[in-house]
Amino acid sequence: MSDTPYIGRFAPSPTGPLHFGSLVAALGSYLDARAQGGRWLVRMEDLDPPREMPDAADDILRTLEDFALHYDGEVMYQSQRHAAYQAALETLTGQGLAYPCACTRREIREAGLPGSIYPGTCRNGLPDGRAARSIRTRVDDSVIHFSDRLQGPVEEHLASRVGDFILRRADGLYAYQLAVVVDDAEQGITDIVRGADLLDSTCRQIWLQHRLDRPTPAYLHLPVAVKADGTKLSKQTFAAPLDRRQPTTQLVRAMRFLGHPVPTELEQVSPTEFLEWATGTWYTGLLPRAAAIEAG
Ligand code: GLU
Repeated sequence: MSDTPYIGRFAPSPTGPLHFGSLVAALGSYLDARAQGGRWLVRMEDLDPPREMPDAADDILRTLEDFALHYDGEVMYQSQRHAAYQAALETLTGQGLAYPCACTRREIREAGLPGSIYPGTCRNGLPDGRAARSIRTRVDDSVIHFSDRLQGPVEEHLASRVGDFILRRADGLYAYQLAVVVDDAEQGITDIVRGADLLDSTCRQIWLQHRLDRPTPAYLHLPVAVKADGTKLSKQTFAAPLDRRQPTTQLVRAMRFLGHPVPTELEQVSPTEFLEWATGTWYTGLLPRAAAIEAG
């Protein structure tokens, strides 16, 4: 155990209202922070305007309030943080770790590497007559590993699994992988609790933390809620928004989904009382690891 006080966070993208899957991430990160006497911050990942819905950010914050998931401090908005992302990009460029890339998605697909890994076409300079579209980072041959508090040891050889990945997209928007690393460090996050759909991104983020001289937080990747056909519940697949009139009912469902038995009498209490009880009960040893079907 380190002596650094715990700082956790919930980092929704305002692409739509919160749904059951996002409530699980919010509740898990909230309880893990509060159970350790920690702070819990909210960061609005409004990095991708074309995918966002008007008013979704405010709607998410209001929903958190209705659910008594009270956060500490001010909300950080990624839309206000472009200068910090640009500075990080310049640091990487200065170290020879970022380069312009002219390739289209189609060209990369046609190169035929498994999983459409970037074939390295522009690594040593743009081909003649081609203009830069995106900016990529140059990964090396190292194997990144970390121990997830729930999923156990994870390791990845970035070069063969993801290749040189995007830091700034062809449409000029900063990539999630870069922004999340810059902002987790800026907010002093010590512990990240989020859905296991992001487990795959973590090694890229750790790689960038090392290159940008930022600390690596502890990670806990929660099981994700999937539909009966096995696909993830997400705003893109129009998962039902949470019923804001019945916060305790939804919190109880999320707590049970996270492997914690909840006595039926708690279904009637206020969300504040429920969360007090849940904070005292939170035990990561009860968490299921695998994705689970969200019934009902
Ligand atoms: N904004 C991301 C999402 O809503 C989560 C990012 C994170 O927790 O690192 O899926």
